[in-house]
Amino acid sequence: MTISKILIANRGEIALRVLRACKELGIATVAVHSTADADAMHVRLADESVCIGPPPSRDSYLNIHQIVAACEITGADAVHPGYGFLSENAKFADILDAHGITFIGPTAEHIRLMGDKITAKKTAVELGIPVVPGSAGEVLPENALEIARQIGFPVLIKATAGGGGRGMKVAKNEAELEEAVSTARSEALAAFGNDAVYMEKYLGHPRHIEVQVVGDGEGNAIHLGERDCSLQRRHQKVWEEANSPALNVEQRMKIGQICADAMKKMKYRGAGTIEFLYENGEFYFIEMNTRLQVEHPITEAITGIDLVHEQIRVASGAGLSVTQDEITFSGHAIECRINAEDPRTFVPSPGTITHFHAPGGLGVRVDSGAYAGYKIPPYYDSLIGKLIVHGRTRVECMMRLRRVLDEFVVDGIKTTLPLFQDLVANQDIANGDYDIHWLEDYLARTAP
Ligand code: ADP
Repeated sequence: MTISKILIANRGEIALRVLRACKELGIATVAVHSTADADAMHVRLADESVCIGPPPSRDSYLNIHQIVAACEITGADAVHPGYGFLSENAKFADILDAHGITFIGPTAEHIRLMGDKITAKKTAVELGIPVVPGSAGEVLPENALEIARQIGFPVLIKATAGGGGRGMKVAKNEAELEEAVSTARSEALAAFGNDAVYMEKYLGHPRHIEVQVVGDGEGNAIHLGERDCSLQRRHQKVWEEANSPALNVEQRMKIGQICADAMKKMKYRGAGTIEFLYENGEFYFIEMNTRLQVEHPITEAITGIDLVHEQIRVASGAGLSVTQDEITFSGHAIECRINAEDPRTFVPSPGTITHFHAPGGLGVRVDSGAYAGYKIPPYYDSLIGKLIVHGRTRVECMMRLRRVLDEFVVDGIKTTLPLFQDLVANQDIANGDYDIHWLEDYLARTAP
């Protein structure tokens, strides 16, 4: 089937990024927006736009009825969900399907399978993907101790419906277990309306390494190497790089192949990311995201492949544009997430951007809908842009990043840019020597 008009069910930099891909493919675009985003860049650049409700996400960007109505009004034949919002909502995929609208993403069945973390882990085992040792299924307060003893302390209690690091608690020993299980359950209930939790071995010093995959839904699938997203605060990624400074070519191709083979077996359709913790040379699956990720541009930088083009191709039945053998990895890329936040406390800093100047030059990409005079609405997440820098080597990439950060001007609000200036000058970062705890340790160590 051909896709001639895509409704982009998202906002901010990702709506813009999807819109750019559509334009390159000659596909008409429909933007949707809340009343708070009426003058957003994605609305200005789209061919058509529809206001879908008031500022709160549940009334607009999460309002399935309004989005389907916007498709009907504009005659959009497909929806790209971006990331966040409805991107991993199986019901949304089902409803679009029932209306004859193409969901640019995997089948609702695959979204459900991976959305429940216990089922996802079981599926990973069946597909030959190495997983973190842990409970076979849900952990109840009454059997938690027995399971924790089998796994061995420290253990991590995680929400089955988890996301964004919520509902996650560490128990270092038996004494901490009861409380960890009960807080994880109540946090999970509050965040996801589901108090089911499971247990995993808590890894002390892993890196977060994830593999990008794309499948055509017919049993063909490719991997596009890995991204290292170990620099996190509160389990949220801040700086990502591709390739991982910790892997060599053999390790990359081996884990990549395992993931691609798993996607072939599943007949997975669309882009996806298989996330691992990596410690002492071993990979441990933690989850799969059945959507495009924030950090996808670093993979695009080193492969030259536009992942949104691929998503649209496979959604329309045109298949993948490349085979595994045709993919080459070239150089090194780093992404810095520019958030409207205090660079130390990460407290959101909404407001009006008074000056905005994005850097340029070879190997520089800025994905952002921000501009001078733009008023950041307080209702959504604080990501206002992404800086992606590419170089032939990691050293060249870091030198370029240092230059580029000096050029980037965002005035009127606080941003995370000063943090990146510190990081790019840090010796551990220069050495690629960090794990998932490094950033929080660094922030604590250097607190004013
Ligand atoms: P979420 O879906 O809430 O983001 P993930 O399972 O993706 O949860 O984990 C998020 C982050 O939490 C990981 O990147 C890592 O930093 C940490 N984490 C998850 N599982 C473990 C584990 N078993 N041991 C140590 N850290 C973990």
